[in-house]
Amino acid sequence: MGIAHKITAAASRALEGALDAVFPRTCPGCGRRPDLPGRHICGACMGRLMGESLDGPVCEACGAPVKTATADGLCHECRRRRPRFDAARSALAYMSLPRSLVHDFKYHGGLWLAEDLTDILEACVRARLDARAIDAVLPVPLHPAKFVLRNYNQSAILAKKLAMRLGLPYLGMSVSRRRDTPTQTHLAPRGRRKNVRGAFAVDRPEAIRSRTLLVVDDVMTTGATLGEIAGVLKKSGAWRVLAVTLCRA
Ligand SMILES: [Zn+2]
Ligand SMILES: [Zn+2]
Repeated sequence: MGIAHKITAAASRALEGALDAVFPRTCPGCGRRPDLPGRHICGACMGRLMGESLDGPVCEACGAPVKTATADGLCHECRRRRPRFDAARSALAYMSLPRSLVHDFKYHGGLWLAEDLTDILEACVRARLDARAIDAVLPVPLHPAKFVLRNYNQSAILAKKLAMRLGLPYLGMSVSRRRDTPTQTHLAPRGRRKNVRGAFAVDRPEAIRSRTLLVVDDVMTTGATLGEIAGVLKKSGAWRVLAVTLCRA
């Protein structure tokens, strides 16, 4: 990516920090002043978000909420077709406040939310995945054309911060998106799998070989994208592929 973009992104982050100091942002949940420096979601709203999080029984593979724990630990979908990742977990249901947080972060330059959203991801990884087994963290890559439009990859920002919190290497350049895929919003699971087939390529197989990887994204819907990435990572020698997303649609 061009140096101009890197400079723009760095400048906009610096500007965010400066603006925050002069005009403190209020909590996107309740409009009150946040209670921690560098954070914007207040303690009460964060508590409510975590309280409403997906913490009932979930499918061991895809992390979908299941009504009662099943004998094999899988949901109906995963029993029919086992995902290529070993385990995916999401912190929150994709509705109300979580949905608007992800939208702001992704489309409206809401980089100021990055630390808050990383708090949520980190709590999810520590509670629902075996954090000690993870060797490295990587994002779902964005196609260069989308990067030019948006100026940042929301998954990469979260993955980088999460890697730092977990004290793990961040492998930002190990997988790339070789094909820009049309939006998946209106596609059924099979259409989504087809849509992302062949969309990713591993550029640095030596960085992932024999390792347990954690792939980070903002929202998981059917898991087609994460499954496709897990497939290419494993073909290139990754040992296990785990995934964490902020929200589950
Ligand atoms: Zn609040
Ligand atoms: Zn499942």
